[in-house]
Amino acid sequence: MRLLTPILIILLMSMVQKSNAQFDKKEKPKLVVGIVVDQMRYDYLSRFYEDYSEKGFKKLMQKGFFHRNTHFNYVPTYTGPGHAAVHTGTTPANNGIIGNNWFDKTTGKSVYCVSDESQNSVGTSSNKGKMSPHRLLSTTLADQNRLHTQFRGKTISISIKDRGAILPGGHSANAAFWYEGGKTGNFISSSYYMDKLPAWAKDFNQSDLVENYLKEWNTLKPITEYTESGKDVNDFEFGFDGKETATFPYDLKKLAKKNGNLNILKYTPYGNNIVAEFAKRAVDGENLGKDDDTDFLLVSFSSTDYAGHNFGVNSKEVQDIYLRLDRKLGEFISFLENKVGKDQFTLFLTADHGAIHVPNYLKSKKIRAGYFDTKILKSKIESFLNDTFQEDLNLIRKVSNQQIFFHHENLLKADIESDDLQEILTQFLLKYPKINRVFTREMIMHGNQTDRVGKLVQRGFHQKRSGDIVYALEPAVISYPPKGSTHGSSMNYDTQVPLIFFGKGIKPGEGYQKRNITDIAPTISHILGIAFPNANIGNIITEALEQK
Ligand code: ZN
Ligand code: ZN
Ligand code: ZN
Repeated sequence: MRLLTPILIILLMSMVQKSNAQFDKKEKPKLVVGIVVDQMRYDYLSRFYEDYSEKGFKKLMQKGFFHRNTHFNYVPTYTGPGHAAVHTGTTPANNGIIGNNWFDKTTGKSVYCVSDESQNSVGTSSNKGKMSPHRLLSTTLADQNRLHTQFRGKTISISIKDRGAILPGGHSANAAFWYEGGKTGNFISSSYYMDKLPAWAKDFNQSDLVENYLKEWNTLKPITEYTESGKDVNDFEFGFDGKETATFPYDLKKLAKKNGNLNILKYTPYGNNIVAEFAKRAVDGENLGKDDDTDFLLVSFSSTDYAGHNFGVNSKEVQDIYLRLDRKLGEFISFLENKVGKDQFTLFLTADHGAIHVPNYLKSKKIRAGYFDTKILKSKIESFLNDTFQEDLNLIRKVSNQQIFFHHENLLKADIESDDLQEILTQFLLKYPKINRVFTREMIMHGNQTDRVGKLVQRGFHQKRSGDIVYALEPAVISYPPKGSTHGSSMNYDTQVPLIFFGKGIKPGEGYQKRNITDIAPTISHILGIAFPNANIGNIITEALEQK
């Protein structure tokens, strides 16, 4: 016993040290790198696997923890809500980002998720910088890190899209930068963050780096080797104004004039290159990952989304953009390993939503799919209600994001109960072609949805901001023009996305049990030993953690 006691004490002490290892500043990553690839379907990792280099996606999959069954756990699956969910660990029900744009019941106007008239543009004379995260209701992972480090740990957020930079950064980011495109091709910001651009960002804008990408875009490998995508000539792509077919090669310099000047780069792999280059300058310019207070570098690659919308998920262009992003990503990881140090940073990579195969392509292969016209639906609802009540009571205020907003004042005037109108319209909608499911405010607020689609609707529904009826279309039916891909539904093609953790605190491996997009934020919070984002609903992905 005498001999055993000291051994027991040593054992107990070592256990205490083990379990608190991540509370030691020296054990924390110096930098968290959060990468969102806009519109990246899960199967892009497998479809193009053999074409990827050893340093990009493959390296992350092989040396990191690769989660193979991660889904968005709410609908609608759009960019604004997607970036918000990844970083807040919660869904529109709590973080309030119910769409990219939505109908604002208080003002009766459509609002953009990050627009803010009270702010001024920084780095441009246009109004493209009048933005802020003021509509985001909850904190992000990076906000919690700022609070935890007494605001010493920095947050820098970068994207082509304003919302892809602003929402991840949260309320307390030191800076969010996005691409202006147009005639300048500059990265800009908002007075919410700063009065003027930092010197390193000005230097970047003054260089010819962006303009030099107005060159030929051809395939990285011989196009005959792109056997993982459809024919380059097909009926399912938009392409660019000024070029008859959406086919390689593209002379971007020539096409720029008719396609918004430097805006055209957004649709090409070069948009991703520009973001990666700007992110590298940020690491140097802001001294990210240099001290014991963890910094955040949040990067969203948006060109993949522009290309998907333009060319469709089965196009040669999309295959090329992923092959090239893979190379850029490889360079970027090597850069971080040199600057911050191997195993000194933790990286996660995911997407803000997936995307659908072009429905007309599916139809051409006998797979059930289709298109839906929201304007026609609205006018049919109106004539149905006029017939039902024998007069035009103007009961419908708006139909947007597959939600129907009632004109509540007019309901009151006509002495119609909201519940009754919900019921009447449900019966009408369930007879309407291509509508698959209908959920009323009553059902969503007063009952727990139990099936997959119902749960996703409920988590995407904000009690104050959302409408009175939510409808879901049949699988593979979309409201979109007849070419190109889109997203927004609760179907697997939109909800399933890649999830990879890599670097400090991560155990290499693979996971197969279903995980939600809202599990990312609490997992990174855990690695940093910081509080969860305030409205987090996710769980720690324990299988991805290194055991100390
Ligand atoms: Zn997106
Ligand atoms: Zn093409
Ligand atoms: Zn999109």
